[in-house]
Amino acid sequence: GSLRSASSFKAADLAIERNPACKPKPDPSTLVFGKQFSDHMLTINWSEKEGWEAPQIKPFQNLSLHPASSALHYSIELFEGMKAFRGVDNHIRLFRPMLNMERMHRSADRSCLPLFDKGELLECIRKLVEVDQEWVPYSQDASLYIRPTFIGTEPSLGVSRTGKAMIFVIVGPVGPYFATGSFNPVSLLADPSFVRAWQGGVGAYKMGGNYGPTIAVQNEAVKRGCQQVLWLYGEQEEITEVGTMNLFIYWTNEKGEKELLTPPLDGIILPGVTRQSLLDLAREWGEFKVTERTMGMKELLGALDAGRIQEVFGAGTACVVCPVGSLLYRGKTYEIPTMQNGPDLAKRFHKDLTDIQYGRKPSEWAPLV
Ligand code: PMP
Repeated sequence: GSLRSASSFKAADLAIERNPACKPKPDPSTLVFGKQFSDHMLTINWSEKEGWEAPQIKPFQNLSLHPASSALHYSIELFEGMKAFRGVDNHIRLFRPMLNMERMHRSADRSCLPLFDKGELLECIRKLVEVDQEWVPYSQDASLYIRPTFIGTEPSLGVSRTGKAMIFVIVGPVGPYFATGSFNPVSLLADPSFVRAWQGGVGAYKMGGNYGPTIAVQNEAVKRGCQQVLWLYGEQEEITEVGTMNLFIYWTNEKGEKELLTPPLDGIILPGVTRQSLLDLAREWGEFKVTERTMGMKELLGALDAGRIQEVFGAGTACVVCPVGSLLYRGKTYEIPTMQNGPDLAKRFHKDLTDIQYGRKPSEWAPLV
């Protein structure tokens, strides 16, 4: 609506209240994902009547919410996941942060939450990272995870567009996904009775409501001896995503060509920043075909049987790339030779992206904070 998009908060209006009691920083080797937070947070409130208030950076603290807040009842909630990296030159960099801002803006629009200027939000986040810069680990396999969040705070149980909302951003140090030097493959449960997202649904948006219901499925995977879920969709049992990562297959296609394949952004795939980056890099290299299309389980297993699958890997902010070692499908385990094949391509992607993130290779993708 016009009211929603009429204005935005401005980073120039930021008020900063510094925390007088900063906490000691944890040892990077002991970090558990998402459990440690820094000394400050960013909050920006909006109401239908007043529009956007001035953004605030203040000491990290609990929120106070009306118990009828629409986020708590109807999942009017969305989030982002991005990182800041301390480079070899001690400068702090973000990684393609505007792609996160654009995805957040699309999620907000789909959630009937108020719109905002993406550049202004990024500047507020940049400022938060600057204030908490000592929380960006002094390590080339750790980083500062950034969690922008947007919630409806309407104090009413009516199922309607929220008239009050809040953006908040919290940050915390995270360790390496893989213990240094090792690149461990994951085993996947591929069970078509579970569906993560569907055509006409909201799988392409980063809404909290897409994630809560996956936990029981993840637990089921673990119960069946697998580490993560391969999400299938539809009659053809299309392979879509793995856990909270986009999925890539490096194979020899039916025409005998080397090809990197990933499912297309057709509404059921989360448009990952890492996914986009792997596609951009591979297209720039121009060494093999790069294709966005669906692949069903039948085609995947046929190619696997014919020895035409070289590498299968997930791609996401958490790990950059994560090799897939096996699939459990209809009671049978299928070994995937990702590790036997290096995995040359997955390792190359991992090196190229982390070189950019940690400032070992200059790139427009990694703006300084
Ligand atoms: N798919 C899903 C379902 C996700 O939640 C994520 C994490 N945002 C991704 C893929 C990977 O996206 P990104 O590369 O932006 O982290």
